[in-house]
Amino acid sequence: MELLEELKNAYPDATCELEYGNEFELLISVILSAQCTDKRVNTVTKELFKVANTPQAFRALDIAELERLIKSCGLYKNKAANIKSCCRELTDKYGGRVPDTMEELITLSGVGRKTANVMLSVAFGKPAIAVDTHVFRVAHRLGLSDGKTPNDVERDLNAAFRQEDYRDAHFLLIRHGRDCCHARKPNCEACPVRVMCATASRAE
Ligand code: SF4
Repeated sequence: MELLEELKNAYPDATCELEYGNEFELLISVILSAQCTDKRVNTVTKELFKVANTPQAFRALDIAELERLIKSCGLYKNKAANIKSCCRELTDKYGGRVPDTMEELITLSGVGRKTANVMLSVAFGKPAIAVDTHVFRVAHRLGLSDGKTPNDVERDLNAAFRQEDYRDAHFLLIRHGRDCCHARKPNCEACPVRVMCATASRAE
């Protein structure tokens, strides 16, 4: 797809910016990344994973200590409670491993469809597009979807791209949203895909 080619040219290094050593660490990082920057999450997990980096170790960790360690990510009380519950579920139901299906992932505390899609795509190499706030906004502006909900947009993007491109599409749309197609003031003049954009063509 021409759109993806142009975005790849503009952002050749677009990829997952969270730093993790295995799928469990990625899961914790994605839970922590809600309403937080990846950079901040990486700073926090660098120290956090020295203290605990298995479901068993998180279960054993005192929740007040966990809250202290993740506080700077924001929403830390909710995130700590979700991580504790999630780790209990992982050990009780899944033998300490992170499951690799949407149906199982969304049963875990703190894991919605967006987080599950990140896990499927990034950790397990399965075709999935996670719709976060950037992907939602950019998909609408480009005219790829007029869906009212993230699920609607996910469905439209799944139809718009080839399965083998889902992973690239996800990271390229996020990067474009962060670097150019900003929420408040999109930088349309410098946009690498302006000629393909439904919003830009309406404005002209
Ligand atoms: S032209 Fe503007 S609105 Fe369209 S994708 Fe580019 S930055 Fe976003």
